[in-house]
Amino acid sequence: MSNSVRVRYAPSPTGDPHIGNIRTAMFNWLFARRNGGRFIVRVEDTDQSRITAGSVENILDGLEWLGIDWDEGPRVGGPYGPYFQSERLARYNAAAERLIASGDAYRCYCSPERVAELRKEQARNKQRQGYDGHCRFLSDAERQTQESSGASWVLRFAMPQSGSTSVDDAIRGHVEWRNDLTDDFVLVKSDGFPTYHMAVVIDDHDMDISHVLRAEEWLPSTPRHVQLYRALALPMPQFGHLPMILGSDRAKLSKRHGATSLMEYRDAGYTPEALINFMALLGWSLDGATEVMPADTIRQHFTLERVGKPAAIFDLDKLQWMNGVYIRQLAPDGLADRLLPFLEREYPPELLPIDPDYLLRLVPLVQERLKTLADGPDMLSYFFADSPQYDAQMLVQRNMDADGTLAAIQRAAAVLSDVDPQQFTAEYLEELLRAAGSELGLNGRQFFGALRVAMSGRNATPPLFDMMQAMGPERVLHRLSLAEARLAG
Ligand code: GLU
Repeated sequence: MSNSVRVRYAPSPTGDPHIGNIRTAMFNWLFARRNGGRFIVRVEDTDQSRITAGSVENILDGLEWLGIDWDEGPRVGGPYGPYFQSERLARYNAAAERLIASGDAYRCYCSPERVAELRKEQARNKQRQGYDGHCRFLSDAERQTQESSGASWVLRFAMPQSGSTSVDDAIRGHVEWRNDLTDDFVLVKSDGFPTYHMAVVIDDHDMDISHVLRAEEWLPSTPRHVQLYRALALPMPQFGHLPMILGSDRAKLSKRHGATSLMEYRDAGYTPEALINFMALLGWSLDGATEVMPADTIRQHFTLERVGKPAAIFDLDKLQWMNGVYIRQLAPDGLADRLLPFLEREYPPELLPIDPDYLLRLVPLVQERLKTLADGPDMLSYFFADSPQYDAQMLVQRNMDADGTLAAIQRAAAVLSDVDPQQFTAEYLEELLRAAGSELGLNGRQFFGALRVAMSGRNATPPLFDMMQAMGPERVLHRLSLAEARLAG
């Protein structure tokens, strides 16, 4: 495909970026990158009542965090700006004038109450809901009366009342709609702002958008857009409607299924690498089998031919698994950098600041078991705490008593305090402590079990000697003395 590929992501700033919405952004970005085209972000902020503060920034931060870069739009500018619809009102007004002049649009004076009542009645009678065209055929005199009374109005599109409208969708193939089933929809609202339908058509044209790749929920709006292109005599982009995303119960993905906003996944410790990979598979596949592949591979191979029609299932277990895969692929210093903000977020001030060298030594101990970065603070907490919290009874292993345990701990402390700090390695500690254990007549489970609790306050931890090496002699001896004190007290 030539460089004329121009695609857009057109978020409405009405809240945190929904994961499905970000999937749409990502597919557009992949399509642009694969085809040497341009990826544009355009903010659809014409529904003033639904705008929420900070959501544009959140959406853009989310894209940046994922590594989805855009060629034109907010923060970067570009030759087709402005990229906020609220700054493009003059263009919509000009189009509205053209449509009125050609007879393709008319002012409708029906009150919101009348329209609401109409819908209720249609619902009661089990009729299709929509505007009944009341103002479409007003006489000039009737129109004059409305105007001189200062009645407020909306601008409606005069849909053809017969025939059909069709598109050849890049993903869904040929789709056709009966025109008499689409009502005369609103183009300009009473506040003077355009509706989505109006603004999207004008902007996609003005911005030379070649492909409109968007969520399937917009498919029913497409005949309206096609008719608008026709009435304005504008060339049409190629449409492609991306498959729906459902929860594992096959209901539309919603809060009920867990987190839906990208920010929640970021804060829950998912990596951008895993999310990109996971979201790519929500509707696209490389070969129907490969699951784990980095963004580069996806970018090189992304085609619309491999986007399916069936709804994609959002499988949280799979995301978790994939996140673990990407966490295990990180270099230790990379993982330490990513864990740091999670530790800083969770730990009380007295455990901060985190010593970066110590953290780097700890990372290999937990890397295998982390499913999310947010698991880090708990898995690492006892490494940072001055004294691990546990009940003295926990030190006492099966077939041992408190005195025997105290003796074992004292023996370990004596052996370890003689070790040259340079030699404080897992292998050497293991050698020394195994010998000490047999001299005490204790088996490994008993002796090392007690030491494990003394180090961590837990029964399940990473390998004991690796843990001791990472903690270093000072911490290890300090913890042994705490255990002694607990047993003695
Ligand atoms: N503003 C719409 C949304 O947030 C975009 C629809 C479209 O891409 O045409 O879903």
